Amino acid sequence: MAYSKMVKPESAELLHLTVLRTERLSAHWVRVTLGGGEIDRFRPMGFDQWFRLFLPIGGEAGLDRVPAKANRMFGYLKFLRIPDGERPVMRNYTVRAHRPATADAGAEIDVDFVLHGSAADGTAGPASRWAETCTPGEHVLIIDEGLTFNPQRGVDRVLLVGDETALPAIASICASLPASATGTAIIEVPSDDDALAFPHPSGIDVVFIVRSHDAAPGSLAMEALAGMSLPDAPFHAYAAGEQSLASGARKHLVGERGVDKNTVSFCGYWKIGAASPASKAAREAAAEPLA
Ligand SMILES: Cc1cc2nc3c(=O)[nH]c(=O)nc-3n(C[C@H](O)[C@H](O)[C@H](O)COP(=O)(O)OP(=O)(O)OC[C@H]3O[C@@H](n4cnc5c(N)ncnc54)[C@H](O)[C@@H]3O)c2cc1C
Repeated sequence: MAYSKMVKPESAELLHLTVLRTERLSAHWVRVTLGGGEIDRFRPMGFDQWFRLFLPIGGEAGLDRVPAKANRMFGYLKFLRIPDGERPVMRNYTVRAHRPATADAGAEIDVDFVLHGSAADGTAGPASRWAETCTPGEHVLIIDEGLTFNPQRGVDRVLLVGDETALPAIASICASLPASATGTAIIEVPSDDDALAFPHPSGIDVVFIVRSHDAAPGSLAMEALAGMSLPDAPFHAYAAGEQSLASGARKHLVGERGVDKNTVSFCGYWKIGAASPASKAAREAAAEPLA
């Protein structure tokens, strides 16, 4: 059985949410907290739960035109018929944390956005720019996509590898694992300041690697993975981030280290030089994640 297959969400309906607040966490991180609207219909699954996010770049009216199942082939083709300029931007993000409703406040979701490129020279993508400038009260839509991390039941020894875009997923996986879990998390980040600490089981060794200016994103995490010895007991591996890190890590583990491919979950989160979704093929596959 392929344990590395995705875990589908209970419901994949469009949910309207509102920006409740934003917080600048570091040079390259901003946290956007979403809630209100239809948040009560969101079903948290923990681990690396991710979702399609529709951003009202061309004005909020565009959000009302997003069809149901815009994350699937036919829905996505309808979505593409919304005129340019009005069509929301669709991107993929992770539930960094979910807080259930209390007597005083509704449920909330934190989404941590990497700020990349520069708004000034136009190299920042629309989602990055939006996260940096959005304000409370703005509306967005999400469609839950479930989990990529999917170990065999009972396996809580892990090897987690990612760049900064996978930090929310790795932090949330660590929050979801039992306290007795063991293993290693290797996370490459753009600067010291961006190595955001997160609670994790004491048996998981968290290793942050700060990228040097001349290193390609993901290359140092890949090197660290290649240089480490692997656990000699069953473990589940997870690799996410820039496409060559995610697919390179899987290839390395399966091809060179003899790891069973069913024990590796991996997902290309972004691709150098390509806006998301990365290719026509990806769009045709209703924007499946890059892997
Ligand atoms: C399942 C999944 C979960 C994800 N979760 C998160 C998350 O929680 N937080 C998060 O920040 N990202 C996350 N990502 C990655 C995010 O979707 C991409 O980084 C996305 O491309 C950002 O969109 P954008 O509009 O800012 O840039 P795009 O318009 O997609 O790209 C514009 C340009 O920016 C470059 N670019 C895109 N992302 C980056 C980056 N991170 N660093 C440097 N250059 C980049 C592209 O190569 C392109 O040249 C996730 C991706 C997937 C598939």
